[in-house]
Amino acid sequence: MILSEDQAEYVSRAIRGVYTGALTKDNCRLSSYCTECGVDVQDFPARTTDHVAARYPGFNSSFLIIGCEGYFFIDPNLVGIDRPNWHDTEGNPSPTREVTSPDKGEQ
Ligand SMILES: [Zn+2]
Repeated sequence: MILSEDQAEYVSRAIRGVYTGALTKDNCRLSSYCTECGVDVQDFPARTTDHVAARYPGFNSSFLIIGCEGYFFIDPNLVGIDRPNWHDTEGNPSPTREVTSPDKGEQ
């Protein structure tokens, strides 16, 4: 996957957030399971062509950042990127959003 400028900025912020401890499994979803294709990136080499994932600091596991179809797995709003229409994999809006309209689609 070749990242666009926006994606690269997002990936950079997401990794920094996890490595500095600002993002944890408690305040955002850190998962290695891609809901877009149903694979666990844990089962793949660290660099896959379809997904963007990173090693979880201190643990022998990885977390997904961008799915194979471009979905942002870590809430971009939590890392300072304004994505009002972002929804988690279960369709819930970002907790940073007080007013949302689910009909507008999702990122
Ligand atoms: Zn996938």
